[in-house]
Amino acid sequence: MGLTVVSGNGHTWRLTGQIGSGSEGFVYGVDDARPLVAKLVPDPPDPEAYRRRVAHLVRQRREPRTVRLLSGTPVRVAWPLVSVRTPDGTDAEPVDGYVMTDMRHAYQPFNHLLSTSARRAHLPRATWASGLRTALALARLLGELHAEGYVVGDLKPDNLWADESGRVAMADVDSWQFTDGRELFPGRMRTPGYTAPERIGAPAGTPPGTESDDFALAVLVHQLLMAGLNPFAGHPADGGDYLSYDDNVLHGRCRITDRTSVLLPRSVPPADLLPRRLTELFRTAFTKALRRPTAAEWAHALTAELAPGRLKVCAVNARHVHTVERPWCPWCDQAERGADSYPGHPREET
Ligand SMILES: [Zn+2]
Repeated sequence: MGLTVVSGNGHTWRLTGQIGSGSEGFVYGVDDARPLVAKLVPDPPDPEAYRRRVAHLVRQRREPRTVRLLSGTPVRVAWPLVSVRTPDGTDAEPVDGYVMTDMRHAYQPFNHLLSTSARRAHLPRATWASGLRTALALARLLGELHAEGYVVGDLKPDNLWADESGRVAMADVDSWQFTDGRELFPGRMRTPGYTAPERIGAPAGTPPGTESDDFALAVLVHQLLMAGLNPFAGHPADGGDYLSYDDNVLHGRCRITDRTSVLLPRSVPPADLLPRRLTELFRTAFTKALRRPTAAEWAHALTAELAPGRLKVCAVNARHVHTVERPWCPWCDQAERGADSYPGHPREET
């Protein structure tokens, strides 16, 4: 017999197979006429708290602030639609979770934008302009949910969806931080490479603020504009061992803020492909925690970079799009050093 889940009012769904897994749970297809999936979290640290968290999120879907976030098609947030649990069994505790929209009907995993091979296979028309548009959509969505009182807490590619036209969506809402009345449901997840320095080593349970999302946003924008490169990637230039992204974050090892702090392969995209204004925002985001640019500031700056006349297409390869601030093509420079993040298709190269 296949796995089933039951909602509070007795509706039963048959699960059609596991389609994903994350740090906390598993996502299954749902046998339903609508595009739905179910997330089950087998072993939350506090099962009762997890059930309450999901129940509150399901209720908040009707609140004006959440309705605003969920407006538009395709929907940008995989909000929990209904709480479910596996039926009581003799040999296992019931597992809690929720049913949500299947984002695969409109989006692809965000990670498809971050590697050359995945881009080529799944998003073949993506260029640097797609990176800019995706960064803008992400900054706007994050700014909106901050304005409505939500904090993502664990903002990272695995929780995001994207498409070729630059649309962005979020999932894993059950790990967000939010309030209901006077009750705070704290975010507690964090991911190396996307955690702000002030949260690295902070006691477990310290609630994140919007500024920690803004740090993760800056990392993601950098990845989108640098063909997937994490700004804190690289071996310490002082000869020490590479330990982790978090170690590089804590020691300020970052090509954008200190060119001499890390060693990177020659084939990474050149640092000077970034427009001056965005470079300044990255420097502030990564060095000045108290002045870290907000999602709204990123949205403003990214909008300006997409204005008419700000982008140039390379004469050699039509996939090479770059800012007009750079007189010659950064992607051709990169190709000369052995890697091309936006290779042309064979028929275009003739
Ligand atoms: Zn070029």
